[in-house]
Amino acid sequence: MENNEKEVVSRNFIEQEIDKDLAEGVYDTVHTRFPPEPNGYLHIGHAKSILLNYGLAEKYHGKFNMRFDDTNPTKEKTEFVESIKEDIEWLGADWEDRLFFASDYFEQMYEAAVKLIKKGKAYVSDLNADEIREYRGTLTEPGKKDPYSDRSIEENLELFENMKNGSYKDGEKVLRARIDMTSPNINMRDPIIYRVAHMNHHNTGDAWCIYPMYDFAHPIEDAIEGITHSICTLEFEDHRPLYDWVVRELEYQRPPRQIEFAKLYLTNVVTGKRYIKKLVEDEIVDGWDDPRLVSIAALRRRGFTPESIRMFVELCGVSKSNSSVDYAMLEYCVREDLKLKKPRMMAVLDPIKLVIDNYPEGQVEMLGASNNMENPELGTHQVPFSRELYIEREDFMEEPPKKYFRLFPGNEVRLMHAYFVTCTDFEKDEDGNITVVHCTYDPATKAGSGFSERKVKGTIHWVPVKEAVKAEVRLYENLVDEEKGVYNKEDGSLNLNPNSLTVLKECYLEPAVSGAEAYDSFQFVRNGFFCVDYKDSKPEALVFNRIVSLKSSFKLPK
Ligand code: ATP
Ligand code: MG
Repeated sequence: MENNEKEVVSRNFIEQEIDKDLAEGVYDTVHTRFPPEPNGYLHIGHAKSILLNYGLAEKYHGKFNMRFDDTNPTKEKTEFVESIKEDIEWLGADWEDRLFFASDYFEQMYEAAVKLIKKGKAYVSDLNADEIREYRGTLTEPGKKDPYSDRSIEENLELFENMKNGSYKDGEKVLRARIDMTSPNINMRDPIIYRVAHMNHHNTGDAWCIYPMYDFAHPIEDAIEGITHSICTLEFEDHRPLYDWVVRELEYQRPPRQIEFAKLYLTNVVTGKRYIKKLVEDEIVDGWDDPRLVSIAALRRRGFTPESIRMFVELCGVSKSNSSVDYAMLEYCVREDLKLKKPRMMAVLDPIKLVIDNYPEGQVEMLGASNNMENPELGTHQVPFSRELYIEREDFMEEPPKKYFRLFPGNEVRLMHAYFVTCTDFEKDEDGNITVVHCTYDPATKAGSGFSERKVKGTIHWVPVKEAVKAEVRLYENLVDEEKGVYNKEDGSLNLNPNSLTVLKECYLEPAVSGAEAYDSFQFVRNGFFCVDYKDSKPEALVFNRIVSLKSSFKLPK
């Protein structure tokens, strides 16, 4: 970014709030956290939250914690813990030595609940789930007093201890905060803060048969860790009074403060865990990191870079109102990031043979090719040139339309980095498909020779047949059918795009690409940016994912 541009970038509303807190001495430092529930893979929306929280800690020279919010034993899996850590590390958010698990605080949470009971601020109720819902009232009607809410402190302490000791079945008793059954905010109508659940927990095993509810646990986790700004998404706005109630009643010295921002949505892109899980189970996609998905693992596999995701998140900004961003903007960011960093190679994705009839048989010339026209620092490499080449099928036409400047009988074009060639003839198979194109070359026109007697309008890329590296290339389109909309109106299923994956089994690359390893990426002339697939690629059989094509109509909003 240019200096003058930097100056006009204003602080987002969260930064303004933090500035105010620091100025007023509410806090003297900034401490943020990212608190995922380990129940699935992280996606691009989470990346926004991670980078926002980490970015704030960096900007204010504060700290950033990584915390697994694993208070709900039903859905959590160790597999997800590992994938989440890997994704956050890859994004570059550094939690240093502050990796925490909410479940490590179960004892403190229990003590906190006891404290509330002792203050007369919590009670054990025997109402079942349906009854609690009934008593809670609605948006227009106040709730009704829980018939068990008048139990004495002693009785509540005893019952709560019995809950902990396993005296009750699941759902038989709950601990409720005593707040206000008539509050206009339903979250404040004596919310449940502990429930009985005889379930094995991935971290604490069978140590507990009661588990704290999210709205109770989360502020305690934040307070224990000394978080100052607990940043979450808008759906928790109505829960903030409860958050504040919990930290106030538990008398934390310098309680954390919750600030909400709008979730990041991508137009026509599926992010819901439920849908992705089904796509994985139905084998419509190749796991949670299928390159058509926008999980962080999928973006990494496809060849997106942490820098491109950071740029994207910054462009999206931080806002208080929900909106949806085009996938094209994400593509714009990765293109911007890769264009000066990656070497440009010739690759033919849909090959036909080009034979230069007047080029000596068996001769091979090594030609120099710039690795990146816009960034000379990337240097050059050599391409072998000889009599038989592959070119793209679409670069030859028997009967060209107007303004077609590539190969057709009688026309002369430039072979990139090489010579001018003139098309003389072609061969077809029984079905009428072109199999070989013939041409002659003019030795005087060698690239770099200063030849200027005539110009040609078309330049095409090529790969030498003998030295070419054969590879598989996978091209992607949106997983869902944008015309029909993401969700089927009748049954809520996804409207899938049948063309979301195209596998090209016989592509040819210049030999300089051989030896490419997982996650290496390149620009392939005219065809886009491509990345070696970490799962399926082998040194002797390379597999590439197209990250993004080269051109788009996307324009940065002013
Ligand atoms: P679930 O759908 O299971 O509730 P979740 O996406 O809320 O999942 P969490 O693990 O609870 O997953 O999220 C961790 C953090 O990421 C939360 O602070 C949440 O607000 C934030 N987050 C989740 N989705 C988005 C999104 N689309 N944009 C920005 N932040 C998000
Ligand atoms: Mg959640």
